Amino acid sequence: REGRRPLIAGNWKMHLTHLEAIGLVQKLAFSLTEPQLEAAEVVVVPPFTALRSVQTLVAGDKLEIGYGAQDLAAADSGAYTGDVSGAMLAALACRYVLVGHSERRTLHGEDDAVVAAKVQAALRHGLVPILCVGEGLDVRRAGTHVPHCTDQLDLALAGLSTEQLQELVIAYEPVWAIGTGEVATPDDAQEVCGALRARLAERHGPELAAGVRILYGGSVKAGNTAGILAGPDVDGALVGGASLDADEFAQICRTAA
Ligand code: PEP
Repeated sequence: REGRRPLIAGNWKMHLTHLEAIGLVQKLAFSLTEPQLEAAEVVVVPPFTALRSVQTLVAGDKLEIGYGAQDLAAADSGAYTGDVSGAMLAALACRYVLVGHSERRTLHGEDDAVVAAKVQAALRHGLVPILCVGEGLDVRRAGTHVPHCTDQLDLALAGLSTEQLQELVIAYEPVWAIGTGEVATPDDAQEVCGALRARLAERHGPELAAGVRILYGGSVKAGNTAGILAGPDVDGALVGGASLDADEFAQICRTAA
């Protein structure tokens, strides 16, 4: 993996109150050793309402667990009822923010232009975007999943400089594998992650491409993590359902470490 530190991020989606969030992070911290947390970067992605509690816990107990948000607004402030800005997330010391998760794209109508604006908003506030791309079942069946994903990548990063993309994280999440229990094969994951890295190399040079971490997401569980991570271009996992169980999530993190 050419020196890229594996990253395991747990997307809690719309689960857990702030009190439940504290319990889960504590349990996770007890389950992982310092060397494991050094070998693999472990990040939780709670709902907005739990971010402050997670921040306080992580900072207070000096836990080596990172955190981020599930979405942010494209705008920095204003009349956007219900939205949360990058500035607000930065003030909570979030390091990461998911952008373009398929549930945002499908349930909230976020198109590639919105995703690009949100990537830019994240970067403006010093947040690291975890940019999610991935094809639906129709595209997979048509066999055009690779260009579909590389196009999504191009559109999301349009106009950004190589300098701005140094810390970018990408998550390849085939929509047909999210929350379905149907996991991509290790070869499927490697095929698209490899193509995304090749596209980054084309646009931004091999050095940038070699440093960007590319995750796989879609029904990752403790039992299938090792296979998925075997691909040379798969640098970690974005985990949904299995991240709500501290024991299982810790096992996934240990496998990556
Ligand atoms: C996700 O929400 O990003 C995800 C991959 O979910 P799951 O692991 O539940 O498929």
